[in-house]
Amino acid sequence: MPASGVGPARVQELQNREPKAFLGARRSTMAPLERTRLPGRNGLPAPHRATAVGIVVLISLAGIVPVAIAAEPPAVEITHLKGPLYKVTARADYEVNFVASAGKDGVLLVDTGFKQTAGELKEKLAALGKGPVRYVVNTHAHVDHTGGNGAFGKDAVVIAHDVVRQALQHGRYIIEEYPDDALPDITFKDNLTLYFNGEEIRLVALPGSHSDSDIIVVFTGSRVAYLGDLAYGGKFPSVDLRCGDSTRYAEVVRKAIGYLPRGVTIVSGHGGDSRREEFVQYQHMLQETTAIVLKGLAAGKTLSEMQKDKVLRDWESHGDLYVTTDEWIEGLVLGARRGPAKASLIEPLYHAYTDRGIEGAVDTYHELKKKSPDTYLFHRFVLYMFGSWLVEKHRLDDAARVFETNIEEYPGFSSNHEMLGEIFMKMGKNDKALESFTRALELDPENEAAAGMIRKIQEER
Ligand SMILES: [Zn+2]
Repeated sequence: MPASGVGPARVQELQNREPKAFLGARRSTMAPLERTRLPGRNGLPAPHRATAVGIVVLISLAGIVPVAIAAEPPAVEITHLKGPLYKVTARADYEVNFVASAGKDGVLLVDTGFKQTAGELKEKLAALGKGPVRYVVNTHAHVDHTGGNGAFGKDAVVIAHDVVRQALQHGRYIIEEYPDDALPDITFKDNLTLYFNGEEIRLVALPGSHSDSDIIVVFTGSRVAYLGDLAYGGKFPSVDLRCGDSTRYAEVVRKAIGYLPRGVTIVSGHGGDSRREEFVQYQHMLQETTAIVLKGLAAGKTLSEMQKDKVLRDWESHGDLYVTTDEWIEGLVLGARRGPAKASLIEPLYHAYTDRGIEGAVDTYHELKKKSPDTYLFHRFVLYMFGSWLVEKHRLDDAARVFETNIEEYPGFSSNHEMLGEIFMKMGKNDKALESFTRALELDPENEAAAGMIRKIQEER
C-alpha cells in the first residue's frame, strides 16, 4: 500500500515495532496508519489525522516506505472463503488482507503481510494441516505485502512481477534489508498460470496505477479474485507517488474487471470484500472523480481551489478510510503533473549512514539537494522515514539529528515535532519533549497525539 501521492496512501507501511512504552500513547491511537484506522474495524479509535493518517498517506504519496512503530501486538486472522481458499488479515500499524490456498497440493500464499506478523502467520497456516507453504506470490513490492517473504522464502518458490525483485533490493526498500530468500525466484511481465489445489490460478500484470508492479490473482475454480491494492474495499485508493499514477487507476481497474469471472468474490488488499457489481461501481467512481479533477486542472484551477470548492462533494463517502477526499484530489493532481520518475533518497542516505555515520547522511542529504534536486524525490516524509528507521534501531541520538534536520527543512510539519518529542521522551528528556509536543500542537491544533503526550507529561509531574 505504500504509495503515493498524496493522499492516496498514507504511509503505507509503517511498521517495525517498538516497545509499548515508546510512542505508546500515540501508537495505540495510531494503529492503523494506513487503512485500518476506522473506529470499529479493529476496535481502536480513529487516530489523529494529521499524524496517523496523514503520515501514512503522505508517505505513500512520497513513494517511500514509511517506518513506524506499532503499539498493538501483531495479529493474524485466517478465515475460510470457499474450497481451498482462505482470507488472511494481518495487522501491525494497520491492516492488510491477502489469501492462501491450502489443500492436497499444500499451501500457496498470495502476499505475506508485514515482517512482524510473519511468525504468527506461519504458525497459523501450519495449523491448517496442509503442510508447508510451497509457493508465495507477491501482488506488488510494498512492504505490507512482501514483508513476510523472509519467513517463507527458504522453502517456498516466490513468484512476482519482474519489477519486484529489483525493487526490493534498492531505493526505499533498502532499509527493509530483505534477505536473498525473500526475493522472487520466478518473475514475469504479463501473465502466468499456476495449477494448484485443483484449480487454475491466473496471475495477470496490471502495473501503472497503484505501483509499477501490481498483479491480480484470479482463482478461476473458486471464483475468488485477490486484487491486492487495486481494490480498496470501495474507498479512494492510495497510490505510490514514486512509481504509480492516480490518474490511471480508473483505466487499470477497468482492465482488471475484464479478468473477473461471473459471481466472483473480490478480496481487497485493504478494506472489505466486494462483489463484481460493486467493483464496477467503484470503477465508475474512479473514472468520474478523475474526470472532474482533470477538467478542473484544464480550466486552470489549483489544487487548493478544488479542495475548497469541494469538487468531489458527491463522492465523499469514499473518503476517510485510507485516503480522504482532499487527499484523493491531491493524488490526482500530482498524477496529472507527474514528471519523470525520481529516485529514492533513502538509498544514498542509507549508504552514507552505513559508511560515515549520521553526519555523513545529513551531509549527503544537503549535497544531493544542492546538486541533484530534480534527480531525487525531496519530500517531508523522506527524512521522516529515515529518522523513524533509526528510532526502530534504537539509535535515538541519530534519529533526533535527522528529525532536527527535517524540521529545518519543513518547519511547519507538525508530525516532525511530534516524533522528535517522542524521541526525547524515550531519552528521558521530558522538558525537551514537552517543547516539541507543544510546537506540534501549535502547528496543528488537531494533533491529538501531541495533545495526549502533553497531558501525560504534565500528569507525571
Ligand atoms: Zn500497496
